[in-house]
Amino acid sequence: MNETPKGKLNIVGIGPGNDSHITPAALSAIKEADSIIGYTTYINLVKHHLSGKQVTRTGMTEEITRAQTAVESAKSGQTVTLISSGDAGVYGMAGLVFEVLRKTGWKKGDSPEIKMVPGISADSSCGSLVGAPMVHDSARISLSDLLTPWTVIENRIESAAKGDFVINLYNPASGRRQRQIVEAARIIKKYRSGTTPVALVKSAYRRQENIQFSDLDHFLEFEIGMNTTVIIGSSQSFVYEGFFVTPRGYGNKYSLEDGSLKPGQNRAVSLRTENDLASKIPKESPSPNLNITKIQGAFVKTSTTVFEQEKEEEIYTQDSSVATAIKALQFLDTSHQKNETEILELRSEEKIQLLGRIGGAVLYQNDENYHLIGKLKRPTDLETFGFYNPIEQDQKWTKLNIKDHSIVSQNRFDILISFPSETSPQIIYDLFSIYRNSSISERLWDYVLDNSKKTLWENRKYADARWLGHSPEQVWSSFREKILRCD
Ligand code: SAH
Repeated sequence: MNETPKGKLNIVGIGPGNDSHITPAALSAIKEADSIIGYTTYINLVKHHLSGKQVTRTGMTEEITRAQTAVESAKSGQTVTLISSGDAGVYGMAGLVFEVLRKTGWKKGDSPEIKMVPGISADSSCGSLVGAPMVHDSARISLSDLLTPWTVIENRIESAAKGDFVINLYNPASGRRQRQIVEAARIIKKYRSGTTPVALVKSAYRRQENIQFSDLDHFLEFEIGMNTTVIIGSSQSFVYEGFFVTPRGYGNKYSLEDGSLKPGQNRAVSLRTENDLASKIPKESPSPNLNITKIQGAFVKTSTTVFEQEKEEEIYTQDSSVATAIKALQFLDTSHQKNETEILELRSEEKIQLLGRIGGAVLYQNDENYHLIGKLKRPTDLETFGFYNPIEQDQKWTKLNIKDHSIVSQNRFDILISFPSETSPQIIYDLFSIYRNSSISERLWDYVLDNSKKTLWENRKYADARWLGHSPEQVWSSFREKILRCD
């Protein structure tokens, strides 16, 4: 039997690079990770989500080492999250990870478990900034010839241009690569008019965002760099009121005034072209017999209804204790409204237990004693925090002796909590412990940080999580069920 715990490797796309366009699933994959690996620019885009994480930043040309490190660390039992911009499966790190795994003979079921988390890719985000350029068929082509021979790229540009695809050019140019985009424009012009719309979107949804509309004859006059995606329209694309649109083709079959069918057309069968209609022969070749489920009434009249919101209690009717806990949680949710601006100042004589985090475990103060609750998730030298390094660590909690008071008090912990005076480390352990993990989950921590009022105590700002310390047992179990669930 293999004794090493099974690790996990999340391969995550963070979207174009701002918080509104990162998915909740990508954020959870970041939050659950012991270690985050990514190219420096991408790490910087999410760095405010990385506090307390072990972060490995790498440079542009270190992709192979990055993928190997990620696989190795995850294999040895860690949860590792590898981040790419956009979607990790679109010119991202995912492909290389699978190549590395294949090389090492990894089999499904082996450590690490692999999880792909999708992100909004550059063409979607850039498209959204200019209109709807990809409503019909499009092709993505990277102009980088660092790993692909130029003849292959050239052939793909030619084919996409011939096929009248909307063309999204990724990696169009860099400091050293200027020739490719000029060559691409030359090839595409063989098939498309000089007035074909072209959009240049630089750094979509980032601070340096810049959008330039142009056409095939003129777009090379504008700045094109590493962070630009070039969207080249098909023969059908048009610009209307500042929006770049490629129509799907509704206008071929229907009147766009009243939605009625045009003469000779039929809703559920293939579009008839002018040639078909001229020849008057019904152009329905016999259908091959495929195993396809027929959807009855697929073309139904529009119906507008209001969806009833699902009531959570109803889902849990069989288990009344969970339902009660959820009710309590909902009560708490409304009663401790977060409030960033109005900061309450606590008197220093008020007896507050201090809770912080060291190496992934919870630090708790009880009178003059400090306890570390849970197991350290990361190797941590406790002396840097002003404590003696304990010789032995209990699986659940360790009493820490103070080596240097000034260092202990200088360290900033972000959460304040008070418990009834008889609270023991055991009680805190029971409240904060969660399944699968002996130390507090990042998710619980983040939840508490996000959902607590801010308090000043002895001139420092803390998240005031006292409401949490007094929550009934059932609320805690509900936290575990709802917030900490490891899906
Ligand atoms: N995995 C990424 C693509 C990485 S390839 C994705 O799915 O988006 C890098 C290229 O993507 C860049 O050269 C640029 O062409 C494009 N790109 C990535 N992020 C972008 C952004 N925010 N704005 C414009 N283009 C972007």
